[in-house]
Amino acid sequence: MTSSLSHSELISIAEEYGTPLYVYHAEKIKEQYGKLQNAFGHTNTIFFYACKALTNVNILRYIRNLGANVDCSSVNEVKLALHAGFPASRILYTSNGIDFDEIKEAKELGVYINIDSLSNLEKFGMAFGHSYPVGVRLRPNILAGGNIKISTGHDKSKFGIPVDQVDRILKLVDAYQLRISDLHIHTGSEIKDVDVFLKGVDVLFDIAPHFEHLEFIDLGGGFKVASKAGEQETDIPLLAEKVGRAFANHPYKNGKKLQVWFEPGKFLVSAAGHFITKVNVLKETSAAEFVSVNSGFNHLIRPMFYDAYHHIENISNPEGPMKNYSVVGNICETDTFAWDRPLNEVREGDYLVFRNAGAYGFEMSSNFNSRFKPAEVLAMEGKTHLIRRRDQFDDLLRNQVEVI
Ligand code: PLP
Repeated sequence: MTSSLSHSELISIAEEYGTPLYVYHAEKIKEQYGKLQNAFGHTNTIFFYACKALTNVNILRYIRNLGANVDCSSVNEVKLALHAGFPASRILYTSNGIDFDEIKEAKELGVYINIDSLSNLEKFGMAFGHSYPVGVRLRPNILAGGNIKISTGHDKSKFGIPVDQVDRILKLVDAYQLRISDLHIHTGSEIKDVDVFLKGVDVLFDIAPHFEHLEFIDLGGGFKVASKAGEQETDIPLLAEKVGRAFANHPYKNGKKLQVWFEPGKFLVSAAGHFITKVNVLKETSAAEFVSVNSGFNHLIRPMFYDAYHHIENISNPEGPMKNYSVVGNICETDTFAWDRPLNEVREGDYLVFRNAGAYGFEMSSNFNSRFKPAEVLAMEGKTHLIRRRDQFDDLLRNQVEVI
């Protein structure tokens, strides 16, 4: 089964709600979650949706109803997840370089917590000792991920406590009787090679016997989704088979089996998202034929920030002859979405849709140039629902304090 919205459906949604517009296809999220469940069904594995990818509360509720848990990267995400109806027992908070007060707040909310520095682990020990279980985010010193900007587990990364400092973690465990319930790694995003996860498993299995209260091994997110024709997703069935085997054979203390956690973000929501823009201006130059759309890195920053590839289609002229264009935005910065990209002939007023825009799309948007953030629409069971209205002029002034 594959779920997709047709060109004519996307055009009628664009006409109804205006552009620029994010459209999320609920059934595609369900399809992706189903792949994980089918593959890992025979193993003791659970999934926490890394909601930093897309936090619209309707998406959170939809994913909650599918049965997934949720991984949060700030206490505000934790509060959104609670607001969306996740019980605290299904929420994980993976903190990174934050003030200890935020960890205290998360503890008061009763969620699972991963701590990623010795400093905060010590503060946690002093404040709560043995009374509350806690996870540790480690840096496994593994280089992985689509590119260096989305690699987080290598030996120069700020994330996690370097695994070679495990002795220092153990000293804190001893000093404060810490109950370390999980060991966590997240080596990067867009990891194609399943053996990278297995390398991480080896690193964690090496140190696991030192942690007597261990219940979970958290392997983070980072599954790759296909963004170009011919590209492969991470081979989830193969990953499940290998991870399942590694854990089945792992002789953790007294026959106790550890549960595996994953935190997929992109895998669940990326392909469900379509970003629809309208062509404002065509400009022919000696360097390129520019197509300026009514958007920019204020709405979709991934191409500029990570050199991310988004497939673009001219859904208004899908039979038009192919030509090469440079697709740019309309903000006052260089905001090239795609250089020299073959598209069906583009006319002013055409709708261009950016695929794989569900993850880190709207979520990273801003009001740069005092432009409005786009609206968001959920397409579900053949109907569409506005799930965030487009900004209005008042939104630009909302938090400003006018003192002059
Ligand atoms: N978990 C952690 C700790 C992360 O930092 C991230 C992404 O930044 C994720 C999970 C989700 O990664 P992805 O969207 O590539 O699955």
